[in-house]
Amino acid sequence: MAVWVFAEELEGLPTEGSLELLAKGRSLGEVAAFYVGAGSDDAFAALGEHGATTVYHLDPGDALPSAGVAAAFAEILRAEGGKVVLFGPGNIDRDVAGRLAARLGKPVLAGALDIDVSDGVTVRSEILGGAKSVSTVVTDGSPALIVTRPKAFEAASVGGGTPTVVSVVMPDVGRSSATITERHVEASEGPDLEAASVVVSGGRGLGSAEGFEMMNELAGLLGGAVGGTRAVVDAGWVPYSYQIGQTGKTVKPQVYIACAISGAMQHAVGMKGASTIIAINKDPDAPIFALADLGVVGDVHKVIPQLIEALKAR
Ligand SMILES: Cc1cc2nc3c(=O)[nH]c(=O)nc-3n(C[C@H](O)[C@H](O)[C@H](O)COP(=O)(O)OP(=O)(O)OC[C@H]3O[C@@H](n4cnc5c(N)ncnc54)[C@H](O)[C@@H]3O)c2cc1C
Repeated sequence: MAVWVFAEELEGLPTEGSLELLAKGRSLGEVAAFYVGAGSDDAFAALGEHGATTVYHLDPGDALPSAGVAAAFAEILRAEGGKVVLFGPGNIDRDVAGRLAARLGKPVLAGALDIDVSDGVTVRSEILGGAKSVSTVVTDGSPALIVTRPKAFEAASVGGGTPTVVSVVMPDVGRSSATITERHVEASEGPDLEAASVVVSGGRGLGSAEGFEMMNELAGLLGGAVGGTRAVVDAGWVPYSYQIGQTGKTVKPQVYIACAISGAMQHAVGMKGASTIIAINKDPDAPIFALADLGVVGDVHKVIPQLIEALKAR
């Protein structure tokens, strides 16, 4: 098998991130998915539709999956071979990738934005908050273990048929085993930030937590989600789940409205993929204007209430 994709389940189906990896994977060669979750005909069909021809399925039950998954996956890779193994940026992905690296004696390349296998394996990534692009050529033999950046690829169904499903038993990993005793889903209102087509995002220039009341109102009128910079998260105005950027979430909405955000590179790396960026800032020299398609130089406390009124009047 040329290409492996590490895929996980959420609410009975492959995660969106898994489908994004399959989109890239199938452009590189024939794809097998290593799928972790309860599994079902619908889940396997979704993997097939997105390009997996074979699915190795492991149901971890209540076990914390990484240790057992890495042990099982390493054995399969030794037996079947493969050129690349693609992981998403999630916690389990990175945990499994690290454990596989130790088991196989291979490095992990993280932060991949693109992968080319036409002449060896070349991985493109960015450093210094996106200021420099780097190409890394893997010379250590197969498989290359690659962790991708969030939303580096776009999921798309290719109408693939039902894949061959191979059941994988969770191995006994002795002292490394752990059990999940409780799951917590963070309560949120409105659309999911990472999936929203409109994101209204606030920065330190809002002045206080109360400034987010108008962010919520604007987002509500536009059917969008609210995000923010690290500055507002550090100030305690919004929870960490709102943070967009290098150490937060990556968003790719149709419209991103940056309100009183300076545009630091660590923020930009999480939102510069938006189709249209609208910036409102009182400083005409703010770096965010270099990224913006449309800029409004002005005080957010004057501009946003007028915008809200105009939207309500429509
Ligand atoms: C390792 C590392 C990781 C980081 N990760 C992240 C990350 O994931 N996400 C992130 O966002 N940051 C991150 N940062 C922090 C980042 O460098 C910036 O400090 C942060 O993004 C700045 O947030 P801000 O734009 O809200 O605040 P500021 O930079 O203080 O900008 C506030 C802006 O508001 C404008 N303004 C002020 N008042 C008004 C007004 N009334 N009306 C209109 N405009 C106004 C000002 O002109 C200014 O441009 C990271 C930093 C480091 C070192």
